[in-house]
Amino acid sequence: MELKNLAKKYDVLVKNVGKVVVTKNTEEVARLETLFHRGIENGVDVELLSEEKLKGFEPLAQTSEKFLWSPTTAISSPAAIIKALEQHFLALGGKIQFDTEIDLIELKGEVIEKNGKFRSKYYINAAGAHADLIAKGLGIAKDFAMIPFMGQYRTIPQGSLPLKTLVYPVPHPINPFLGVHLTLTTDGLVKIGPTALPILGREQYSALSGWNIRDIVQSLSGVQSIAVGKSHSLLEIVKSEFPNLRLKGLKKEGGTLVPQVLQIKNWARKAPGIRAQLVHLPTGSLEQDFKVITHGNSIHVLNAVSPGWTSALPFARYIVGQILFTKEVGHGS
Ligand SMILES: Cc1cc2nc3c(=O)[nH]c(=O)nc-3n(C[C@H](O)[C@H](O)[C@H](O)COP(=O)(O)OP(=O)(O)OC[C@H]3O[C@@H](n4cnc5c(N)ncnc54)[C@H](O)[C@@H]3O)c2cc1C
Repeated sequence: MELKNLAKKYDVLVKNVGKVVVTKNTEEVARLETLFHRGIENGVDVELLSEEKLKGFEPLAQTSEKFLWSPTTAISSPAAIIKALEQHFLALGGKIQFDTEIDLIELKGEVIEKNGKFRSKYYINAAGAHADLIAKGLGIAKDFAMIPFMGQYRTIPQGSLPLKTLVYPVPHPINPFLGVHLTLTTDGLVKIGPTALPILGREQYSALSGWNIRDIVQSLSGVQSIAVGKSHSLLEIVKSEFPNLRLKGLKKEGGTLVPQVLQIKNWARKAPGIRAQLVHLPTGSLEQDFKVITHGNSIHVLNAVSPGWTSALPFARYIVGQILFTKEVGHGS
């Protein structure tokens, strides 16, 4: 909601399209109901409705018994919102330095970067897929390893698949990925995906580049701990996600939500994204929530997985609150 209001404030296009969460079979109904109750407990505007009503919200979708309707879900352009935020920040006197790789934070001292040094009162490490490396440089986050997963979407013009709303499956109870879903973009595309393929490197956008031995060794320690732990089966995750790498598998999965997906042939590939999945080494479990570690005058945002974008503003406020009100990071430092 906050991001939506911000977009409106900066005249960035926002479309209120809503979202339905549908079930693939009757076994998923109990999980849908749990999701509904969790939404209500958290003050989210959601409705649990019966199957007969679905056609009124999304004529192309199907469900078993019930579905969830989220009337406040909206779409916008993340790039346009970031641009607006940048302008606002600069207008307030903020400075942004692009193309500058941070190597290490020295507490209460200087941030070392490739071509010089920065000095700061507080450090917020929000380096995404690299955040754990910066934290480890300070001797913290030793209990975690990062396994990168590539997520790919495919697109089709909305004219070929005239969806009115976003269509999501009920999230898997253990698998940390959202599952293949159908979304809309403000420039008139329908997206199907994402895939979730474990890869070798944090920047591996193609088969031959973007990986290194350090990333592989790290990932292997994560894989090993998952194999020993009882929380997740990486094999099961890979087995369920692997078919989606081929268009046929992706369509089959999407077709369980919107059967018309199966008829469409010419889906275009979109540039992939990389999801950095944090593994807790002592238990071998995949972290499914944000992980924030404070240390001296630094805060480390690890595992900012989806909905990291949607929740970016309240989450940023939470981080700033840590600086202002936590003794270790704030006044105590
Ligand atoms: C396929 C996919 C689909 C997603 N869909 C959604 C969605 O629908 N809704 C949603 O809410 N979220 C979604 N997410 C999740 C969302 O993208 C993340 O939660 C969010 O990007 C995390 O933000 P971040 O700032 O922590 O990290 P990032 O967005 O990864 O930003 C980290 C930044 O730090 C920079 N950096 C890294 N290392 C260094 C260094 N050493 N020095 C300097 N800079 C560095 C990087 O270049 C990057 O600019 C999706 C993610 C993926 C992969």
